Amino acid sequence: MPNKVLIIGAGGVGRVVAYKCAQHRDIFGEIILASRTRKKCDAIAKAIHEAYGGKKIKTAKLDADVVSQTVALIQSYRPDLVINVALPYQDLPIMDACLVTGTHYMDTANYEPKDVAKFEYSWQWAYQDRFKKKGILALLGCGFDPGVTSVFTAYAAKHYFDEIHELDIVDANAGSHGKAFATNFNPEINIREVTQKGKYWQNGKWVETEPHEIWKDIDYPEIGPKRSYLIYHEELESLVKNFPSLKRARFWMTFSEEYLTHLRVIQNIGMAGIEPVRYKGVDIVPLQFLKAVLPAPEELGSNYTGFTSIGCRIKGIKDGKKRTYYVWNNCSHQAAYQETGTQGVSYTTGVPAMIGARMILEGKWSGKGVFNVEEFNPDPFMERLNADGLPWNEKVDIDLGMD
Ligand code: NDP
Repeated sequence: MPNKVLIIGAGGVGRVVAYKCAQHRDIFGEIILASRTRKKCDAIAKAIHEAYGGKKIKTAKLDADVVSQTVALIQSYRPDLVINVALPYQDLPIMDACLVTGTHYMDTANYEPKDVAKFEYSWQWAYQDRFKKKGILALLGCGFDPGVTSVFTAYAAKHYFDEIHELDIVDANAGSHGKAFATNFNPEINIREVTQKGKYWQNGKWVETEPHEIWKDIDYPEIGPKRSYLIYHEELESLVKNFPSLKRARFWMTFSEEYLTHLRVIQNIGMAGIEPVRYKGVDIVPLQFLKAVLPAPEELGSNYTGFTSIGCRIKGIKDGKKRTYYVWNNCSHQAAYQETGTQGVSYTTGVPAMIGARMILEGKWSGKGVFNVEEFNPDPFMERLNADGLPWNEKVDIDLGMD
């Protein structure tokens, strides 16, 4: 029987999730798109109807910070699953609404409190018992990274290794949008993420670094060498817990010189601040004001060229011998834009979110409680990546270029 989904958030990622769900009406029979600004939902619903016809997507205005509003919306539409692609700040209130109504939940980014830039799963893992008791499932972090990178790791561990020892997640955006400075997903969340200290896992403990202190020129397939910086990324926390054989786990992301120079200036002049500043009698959070003047990620699509390349480089042991494995996807910004009207970073997040939703609705991923993506069988998800626009490649026993 076709299912009903409620998508919360009508930004770049929400747009892609809605497009991709609308491509599979046999699974996603009814789609409701709700967000803070209803006209964004309406514009997406209209574009999808023009592209595919079929049953119209319903839209609603929702402030998901207010649990009672989300509860009322869920009660009026009775969705089988809530796909949260608003901002990380909304994770907990939306999980609360799912608990009240007994509805499955999923998201693509872990909860962050508004007043501290801090990425950790503790707040959401704390819902474990309540979700279990209610008999519902919460799937955390089902975008690309976290999400596909976690599935890639689970797939490698299942099929290629007896034990995985070293994991390097390598994330390159080799695209060009023609703007002097813009972020590829929500600027506030993005800048909070990349300005924090670096951190990686080594021999059973976390090692902290200054922001961008460690870098390396990493060779990406079809792209070539790109300067990549060691940053902390949230999937490391759940992956080292779920794969305790990991002796080292690191995350690398490319940034251009131009991006980093702008970022330094933004920080030096206080525009990355998250403490409110009183200006002409009004409290303004500098980073939120900056978001208002920067290009919106969903506007970057039309001139975006080049590729993203994200994958996992893994070392470990198989049948007593050392083994290496690299699995990755390259995604074209232009192709993403042609299909969904937005760029590759939103696309690479929205497609896995739709696939995760599909896994839950088809019962391929099931359970009661709070789960990270790597805890489920990676195989059906890997199959869908190939079918739904994010085909992957793999190489075994090569020089990974990571020391
Ligand atoms: P955008 O800023 O483009 O979109 C966020 C949307 O959420 C906007 O439509 C916004 O409304 C809406 N929203 C914000 N607050 C509320 C609220 N209180 N109630 C209802 N709706 C609200 O962000 P993106 O689409 O780029 O990112 C969406 C999510 O995806 C983020 O959590 C981000 O961290 C995550 N992400 C995950 C990645 C991964 O690989 N795992 C990669 C990239 C992003 P309004 O339009 O009014 O501002």
